[in-house]
Amino acid sequence: MNRTIELVKTIYEIKQLEDIDAPQIALAGRSNVGKSSLVNRLAGRKALAKISSKPGKTRSLNYYRVDPDGYYLVDLPGYGYAKCSKQERAKWGKLIEAYMKDNPRLRAVAVLLDSRLPPQKIDMELTSYVRSLGIPVIPVLTKADKPKQRELAQLQTQWRDILQQDRLPLSFSSKTGKGEEKLWAAFTEAAGA
Ligand code: GDP
Repeated sequence: MNRTIELVKTIYEIKQLEDIDAPQIALAGRSNVGKSSLVNRLAGRKALAKISSKPGKTRSLNYYRVDPDGYYLVDLPGYGYAKCSKQERAKWGKLIEAYMKDNPRLRAVAVLLDSRLPPQKIDMELTSYVRSLGIPVIPVLTKADKPKQRELAQLQTQWRDILQQDRLPLSFSSKTGKGEEKLWAAFTEAAGA
């Protein structure tokens, strides 16, 4: 399919949030997890989402419209950057909470997980929070070109058990394009598009 992704809106503050009358799938993950690279890969472009030279500095919500399907991918600011101040962290939490709560158009949150790391507490906290709001989580192991096949398979099983899901998490590599079609399929399904 000839899909296009276009950045249509960027917001920085809660007061800029507006209801968007289209299904949305949010993209969340720790700073440096490979979120910008994933967006760029999906868009088939090199620099649509800025690849972070300074991790933790992107504090905006970016709305990408996916056509012809008509849903939005909403790129949330990365979390868990060690050098972030307490105030910045609190601001992140409030913006994300304001976006996620009472948003019936938010169909799922794709939580990106670094496949080079064992399950991290902060990622589990986020997935628990998302699910406590009744929003499905789509786990995606990023940088899947890095670990050995056996390690990746182990991590997938580990995350499936943590999240108590039937399916194994998707694995994705922005470098090789591995998992791209499956990720699109998961988004299309979740968006009901
Ligand atoms: P973000 O902070 O989550 O937006 O992460 P970036 O997309 O900026 O990526 C962080 C770092 O991980 C960069 O150095 C990327 O080149 C690297 N990276 C991202 N995706 C991949 C991938 O699929 N494979 C490999 N090997 N490296 C990746």
